[in-house]
Amino acid sequence: MNTTPKSPALGVDFGRVIQGGEVLDGGTDTQFLGTSREAAMHSPATRGVFDVLPRLVERFNGRVWIISKCGPRVRSLMLEWLDIHDFYDRTGIPRGNVRCCEKRADKAEHCAKLGITHMIDDRLAVHTHLREVVPNLYLFGQQSSMITPDWVTPVLTWADVENNINIDHAAPACPIESFSGQYRTLSNFAAYPTVFDGVQFPTAEHAYVAAKTLDPDLRDIVRELSSPGNAKHFGRSVQLRPDWVAVRESVMLEILRAKFTANPDAGQILLDTGTAELIEGNRWHDNYWGRCGCKPCRRNGIGMNTLGRLLMQVRGELATQTPPGV
Ligand SMILES: [Zn+2]
Repeated sequence: MNTTPKSPALGVDFGRVIQGGEVLDGGTDTQFLGTSREAAMHSPATRGVFDVLPRLVERFNGRVWIISKCGPRVRSLMLEWLDIHDFYDRTGIPRGNVRCCEKRADKAEHCAKLGITHMIDDRLAVHTHLREVVPNLYLFGQQSSMITPDWVTPVLTWADVENNINIDHAAPACPIESFSGQYRTLSNFAAYPTVFDGVQFPTAEHAYVAAKTLDPDLRDIVRELSSPGNAKHFGRSVQLRPDWVAVRESVMLEILRAKFTANPDAGQILLDTGTAELIEGNRWHDNYWGRCGCKPCRRNGIGMNTLGRLLMQVRGELATQTPPGV
C-alpha cells in the first residue's frame, strides 16, 4: 500500500499555552477574556514560549499554526496581543498561521485541514476531539484532574514540550509520481465538475479543452463530450485561440483552482498529500505538463512537470486559506 507519510505540522493553542500559562487552574482562564483590553495586553507570555517556540518552528520547517477557540472579540484581542509581543518576528511563525473557531470540537476540523501531526493544548476536552485526527497530543500545564489518559503526553512547561516532542519518526514525504489509483483525483480526467468562464464542465480536462477556443458553440460541443478522453482527442483538432501558448498555463491554474475549491473532497485529497512532490508522470513523452518516464526522455533531461507544479501551487493556496466562516 502506497501511503504518504504526513510531514510534521505543529498546532499550538493560545490561551494558557502561549499567553498567561503556568497559572494554576481554577477558573483563571477567563483572565484574558474577562478583563479590560489594557489588562489583556499586559498579560504575560507563558514562561519559555519565546525560547522554545522558535526552535520548534525550525524543527517543523515553519509548519506551525496557532489554533485557538475564540469568538470575534477575543480573536481581535489575541491578534493585538501577538502584535504587541512581536510574536511573529520572535517565533518565525507566519502572520497568516492563526486559526480560530468558536467551538472546541471545531479545532479538529482545522487540524485535519492543516495536516497537524502534533498539538499542544491545555484542555483535555480539546484533545478528546482531536484523538482521531492528530497522532501526537500534548496536554499543557497544571491540570485540576490527577488522571491523565495514556493517549496524551502531559507537559507542564515549554521546556517539557521541547523535551517531549519527537518528530524524527515523521519521514519526509515520498514524491507522488502517478495521478492514478489513490491519487486519481489529481488527474484532470477525474470526474469533478469544474467551472470555467461561467460554464460548468464534467471534468477539468473538458474545461481545459474548451478553453482552447473562444467559440462558444465549440465550447458547448466540448461540454457535451462523453468522456475526458474524447475531449482531449477533440482538442487536438480545434482551432486554437491566437494567444493560446501564452495563456495556457494560467488557464490551467484557474481551472485547477476552480476544481479543488468547488469540490472540497478533492481539495482535501490534494491537501492530504502534505508536502509530497507531485509529478505528472507519463509514458507518452509529455514533458511540458508532466515528466515522461521513458528512457529517451529521461536521457534528454527532466520534464517540466507544469501540471504537477500548478497542483502544488493550488495545494499551498488551499493550506493557507482561512476556512469559510472563520
Ligand atoms: Zn518519453
